[in-house]
Amino acid sequence: MSRTTSHELPKPPPGVLTEVHAFLQSLGAPAYRYQQLVSAFQRGAQSFDDVRDVPGELRQKLVAHFGPTVIPLEVETVRAGEQVEKVLFRTRSGARIETVLSRYRAGWSSVCVSTQAGCGLACSFCATGAMGLDRNLSVDEICAQVVHRRWGAEPGGAPKSVAFMGMGEALANPNLLASLRVLTAPGYGGLSPRRFTVSTVGLAPALARLTEEQPQVTITLSVHSPFSEERARLIPLERRFSLEENLALLDRHVLHARRKTYLAYLLIDGLNDSEAHLAALARLVRRRSRPELFHVSVIRYNAAFGADPSYRTPSSLKVDEFVRGLHRLGIKATRRQQFGADIDAACGQLHAESLVRLGRRRPPGGSPD
Ligand code: SF4
Repeated sequence: MSRTTSHELPKPPPGVLTEVHAFLQSLGAPAYRYQQLVSAFQRGAQSFDDVRDVPGELRQKLVAHFGPTVIPLEVETVRAGEQVEKVLFRTRSGARIETVLSRYRAGWSSVCVSTQAGCGLACSFCATGAMGLDRNLSVDEICAQVVHRRWGAEPGGAPKSVAFMGMGEALANPNLLASLRVLTAPGYGGLSPRRFTVSTVGLAPALARLTEEQPQVTITLSVHSPFSEERARLIPLERRFSLEENLALLDRHVLHARRKTYLAYLLIDGLNDSEAHLAALARLVRRRSRPELFHVSVIRYNAAFGADPSYRTPSSLKVDEFVRGLHRLGIKATRRQQFGADIDAACGQLHAESLVRLGRRRPPGGSPD
């Protein structure tokens, strides 16, 4: 098998280690040195000194200019449960973002990364939405969450799959596509696009771009209610890009890509768990172009900082009953594994708590159960 040399690496997309790129240019270093550095950091190098195929003299200049590393994230808080580790990172600009590693008993792990610091879409059940949008994360900040050295020590090795389900609406950040390009490019991240899942509440124009550019990436669309008015109270973006518009887009996508697509359904006690909801959700799936390629993922709501305080967590039994109800109606469905309930793993929780500690926010009145 021939080995890819760094000289053959494709050019990294714009936005990756941009300051390093400018610095190397100012030194007159050959272009492949930059590509070697990007490749090494994508593969888990943590400091310039780890990049042994770059000459020592050049490494010294880089360290003198940037310090030992250009990794843009520092660990601020870690909270670990049995199968999950949640990390609050601080970016160089002082923004705080959350990344969650889940370990599966089969011996592999998955990392859930953030794409934005905060979020501007204000979904009424979401801790991140209650913060508002601070800013989009850069390509480097997104990629660094995937290849961070914390995960390198995992018994099963680096994470096998990546979910863009952390803080922020992934499709609202134009750097998502560039990040996917570099994480999947041979010689850089080198991960198969099939290992990525992008979760969205339905930003239709960006969803269309994603399905065109990365048809093998798995998509999860948040439904949460089959009724437009109710969905708009949960996900205000419904008023701009309706569920119907997004589903029509996914109908075309599954015909073309033949990829299983997920519909997320956040079950909230007494709100969207009735027989009428069940029947309407089943009808919605049966109307799809290839219903067998749509899978409903039922998620149990857990109370979150900043979420509507009237929302209640359903009993575990109720969640299982809802899934069984979908099965009875001929719909493929499973309950999503939620490892982190014991450590408040809903995204935005750790960040919200840090704001409470800093005295910038009041703690919530309600409790999860
Ligand atoms: S659910 Fe997603 S899109 Fe909605 S506010 Fe939270 S982070 Fe933003």
